Amino acid sequence: MRLSCLPLTTFKEVPAEAEVISHQLMLRAGLLRRLASGLFTWMPIGLRVLRKVEQVVREEMDRAGALELLMPAVQPAELWQETGRWDVYGNLLLRMRDRHEREFCFGPTHEEVITDIARRELKSYKQLPVNYYQIQTKFRDEIRPRFGLMRAREFLMKDAYSFHLDQASLNATYEAMAEAYARIFTRLGLGFRPVEADSGEIGGARSQEFHVLAESGEDAIAYCDADQFAANVEMAAALPPDTPRPAAGAAMERVSTPDTRSIADVAGFLGIPAEQCLKTLIVDAEDGGLIALVLRGDHELNTVKATALPGVSSPLSMASPERIQAALSCPPGFIGPVDLSVPVIADHSAAALADFACGANAVDWHLQGVNWGRDLPEPTTADLRNVVAGDPSPAGDGQLAIARGIEVGHIFQLGDKYSRSMQATVLDQAGKDVPMLMGCYGIGVSRIVAAAIEQNHDEHGIIWPEPMAPFQVILIELNPKKSAEVTAAAQAMYESLVTAGIDVLLDDRNARPGVKFADADLLGIPHRLTLGDRGLKAGAIEYRARRTGNEENIELNDVVKFLQTKVLAGAN
Ligand code: ATP
Ligand code: MG
Repeated sequence: MRLSCLPLTTFKEVPAEAEVISHQLMLRAGLLRRLASGLFTWMPIGLRVLRKVEQVVREEMDRAGALELLMPAVQPAELWQETGRWDVYGNLLLRMRDRHEREFCFGPTHEEVITDIARRELKSYKQLPVNYYQIQTKFRDEIRPRFGLMRAREFLMKDAYSFHLDQASLNATYEAMAEAYARIFTRLGLGFRPVEADSGEIGGARSQEFHVLAESGEDAIAYCDADQFAANVEMAAALPPDTPRPAAGAAMERVSTPDTRSIADVAGFLGIPAEQCLKTLIVDAEDGGLIALVLRGDHELNTVKATALPGVSSPLSMASPERIQAALSCPPGFIGPVDLSVPVIADHSAAALADFACGANAVDWHLQGVNWGRDLPEPTTADLRNVVAGDPSPAGDGQLAIARGIEVGHIFQLGDKYSRSMQATVLDQAGKDVPMLMGCYGIGVSRIVAAAIEQNHDEHGIIWPEPMAPFQVILIELNPKKSAEVTAAAQAMYESLVTAGIDVLLDDRNARPGVKFADADLLGIPHRLTLGDRGLKAGAIEYRARRTGNEENIELNDVVKFLQTKVLAGAN
């Protein structure tokens, strides 16, 4: 591609609308333009990156035996009504009506459509297993579209769905997909980690997410290098402390604590660390009553774990201040487990405290020197909290660290959730109709592009991992107006690189060298060649690697060979 033919607009300034670096750099480099909230146009150079990612995904899915198809983006409501998701999917689903007033949605995912295909196409166990996939535009009306491509409303996803007679076959395909995903992210040159995940709403047995590690990631991952444990923080078990609770040392005392509602206020006021205070959260119970969840002041409630507790309403809902006031005669902020009239469940670490402080169930009062078993009954205990750095690894060997990650892939075992509600059955060996088992496997193709930039950039711009770079090489022609010879040599070099099968962008714009160098860095193209008057006279061209900044002069005749070895070696 010749830059003189492309109206590329780049910016030096950071666009006000973009919070994260990937979004900023994609806008500045002219790869992406915003149409409306969560809707983006892929400009010509940006689209090349997306296509390259797509191609790696496609190759590895094909290699793993998956079959590509393409389903409609628009889906009839009836299918969603069959699985009950028309009602439960909520506002993420963009709904619409056609001219006959029939209801449709723009697909946020395709379990219903693929299960409909499967129940029509697959009749016998002999046709199984099958793994279908597509690479297609999804729409999710996200509450907070943000971070550009990371959480868009319209985005490109690879989604695959497999069908099986039995669990062993589902397990085999699930493992094959986990391997294919590892190959995809490795080939794309990304630092990633597979983590055990919360299977959330989709439900089913096993589930793993693939995260690209980056500071800006929305998810927290707990991992331990010593024993290879890695899980979404939501899923990581917090083990009970392995040391016994210290003996009670203080007497319980009521302390006036005017206007101290938060743990930080209380700890500061009493002059004790937050981990000596208890925090009491009141949630709605399944039976219409209330339940108190008690945590150490420095710990956070894990909503997945709390939702799973018997008796707690699902989805989890915090009791309103009005309900708390009405039922406990005290506003939130001063609640504590002593003489509380609702059931108490304490986190293991909270139950291990002695001489702790907590709310006194009266406005502006707290208790200090409180001890379980003496001042209040021994509590029911459970794992209620998010793990924190330094906790023991649940896999048994070492301590947990916490990292931020961007979810770029997700694999699930769905079991018969969809096949049962949609009667997708096959005849088994005994001639009996049985629902198929399903797996589903997603990759955020467009999110990968943003994640790659989050992981690979510097103060000058993007540094593409070689396999997804829009071009492998940028050839800069210095001062085109000045020398017809340089122009002719640049054109000839461009042609020979194209002929050699190298993806090259020729910067033949009539612009200052400084502008061209800055744009080349911003665009992040791995290999840069610069051809100017002086070099040409000496029969050489200047080469510079984007990632390392290493420079060398290459003889004109050796350039193609030099680049072929660089590009083939994937060095950048
Ligand atoms: P998230 O937790 O980030 O909302 P999800 O778990 O709802 O994502 P899945 O249903 O697992 O998403 O979709 C498969 C993949 O699609 C995700 O792993 C992610 O990479 C990508 N994806 C999901 N939502 C978006 C979005 N709004 N914008 C871009 N990519 C997305
Ligand atoms: Mg997911």
